[in-house]
Amino acid sequence: MKYPEITNFIGGKESSPAGQTLEVINPSTGSLLTRVPLSSPKELERAVTAAKKAQPAWQALPVKERVQVFFRYKNLLEMHRDELSELVSEENGKTISEAAAEVDKSAEVTEFACSLPQLTAGEIEEVSRGVECMEQRVPVGVVACITPFNFPNMVPNWTLPNALVLGNAMILKPSEQTPLSANRLAQLLQEAGLPKGIFNIVHGSRGIVEGICDHPGIDGVSFVGSTRVAKIVYARAASHHKRVLALGGAKNHLIVLPDANPEMTASNVAASFTGCAGQRCMAASVMIAVGDVNHIIEKLCSEARAIIPGVNMGSIISQTSKERIVNYINQAESEGAKLLVDGRDVQVPGGENGFFVGPTIVDHVKPGMSIACEEVFGPVLTILRVKTVDEALEIENASPYGNAAAVFTQSGGMAKFVIERVSAGMTGVNIGVPVPREPFSFGGWNDSRFGVGDITGKSSLEFWTKLKKTTVKWNPEAKTNWMS
Ligand code: NAD
Repeated sequence: MKYPEITNFIGGKESSPAGQTLEVINPSTGSLLTRVPLSSPKELERAVTAAKKAQPAWQALPVKERVQVFFRYKNLLEMHRDELSELVSEENGKTISEAAAEVDKSAEVTEFACSLPQLTAGEIEEVSRGVECMEQRVPVGVVACITPFNFPNMVPNWTLPNALVLGNAMILKPSEQTPLSANRLAQLLQEAGLPKGIFNIVHGSRGIVEGICDHPGIDGVSFVGSTRVAKIVYARAASHHKRVLALGGAKNHLIVLPDANPEMTASNVAASFTGCAGQRCMAASVMIAVGDVNHIIEKLCSEARAIIPGVNMGSIISQTSKERIVNYINQAESEGAKLLVDGRDVQVPGGENGFFVGPTIVDHVKPGMSIACEEVFGPVLTILRVKTVDEALEIENASPYGNAAAVFTQSGGMAKFVIERVSAGMTGVNIGVPVPREPFSFGGWNDSRFGVGDITGKSSLEFWTKLKKTTVKWNPEAKTNWMS
């Protein structure tokens, strides 16, 4: 075991809960990295108590003071970029450069959080002679964040800088598959001067998530993960009258028109479906080829063949995930789809015990097939061929998901036509991964997001704060008596 057993982080202290643990495996090598505790409800109780105790004093600090911690935290993320990237790569299996991009994004969202004093200034207006109305943003209180395996550094950072700068205390429940990065973030936050109890980690799986949803001391819950679990968390936490924002899975469509720039389209689509081994909620999953785009598909296949697992592409998170992905490909093949690039039997020198699937392109897929409708979450691109843009839109619109969609064309008018009609929260023109950069916010539509508002950027302010509206009258000489 490379690292000591993972601890919880409660009230500024690392603590090892007794009880069951799970193995944390390096998915590129299959070797044991550490063990993660399946914490008991008692641990959650301790974390809620610590957070509730610490939060009022943190809230009482002016936002300009709270934000100072995050200037330092951003510097620490940058100073420790290599080490943090290494940890992400080890526990998740993505390449070092992909892991570094994740850490860079964490620094970018923290930079946004550092601008919050500028964005959260309230408003004041004299609404009647001698009477003023003003509004202020007040923290929600104790919030909990539940995160997935695919971005162990970035997804916790989607929430923690904004939520904490805005005066909340937090309990993080990281993915049990990738729990190491979270603990390192807790250490850096402490080094940056965050008071004890404002950021806590309780490791575990389903039991802790259910405990979070039910706990009366937790005021808000954010979740990022699959749609199946997002629906459970959304319904369960809301039934206890908490505010909930639950981001789910995705099935992203890229619509490629015959006039698209062939080189740019091929390289963008290839990067989109293979980046992080296809385990991104923004990854391309379906390419809808409109009309004759064979010349683009040929280039796309060459691009995909140049992406080599274990060299410039990472691994899948687990053997179970690998089997799920391969099953989708097998099923599509047996239903008549044609494999243009086949990554099922990839061999990785040194990674014989790891979980690898190479880039795979499946052509002539029909809209009703499982591979065309369900989230595969691997480096697999499904090509559906249609004759018209209207048919392409019909397919995209029929998907229950709505995270991302993009169009590839040289026509501004056609790009506008498509973007206006796709049903997705994050759309792109000639961009394979249309992730909005700060200050624009991140969040999908439909079954890719339950709740109101987005999880990052300006749109997240509503989620992390409550608006207090105050009406004030002081001076009797104004003779304002209509408000008593
Ligand atoms: P997951 O849903 O299996 O797990 C997410 C979290 O939920 C983990 O912390 C896990 O411990 C917990 N969990 C798992 N099963 C549970 C249950 N039955 N009850 C309560 N909690 C449970 O997701 P994952 O496999 O870790 O991550 C991949 C998924 O996340 C993909 O579907 C991907 O699209 C999605 N994702 C979405 C976004 C987005 O922004 N929309 C971002 C990243 C990942």
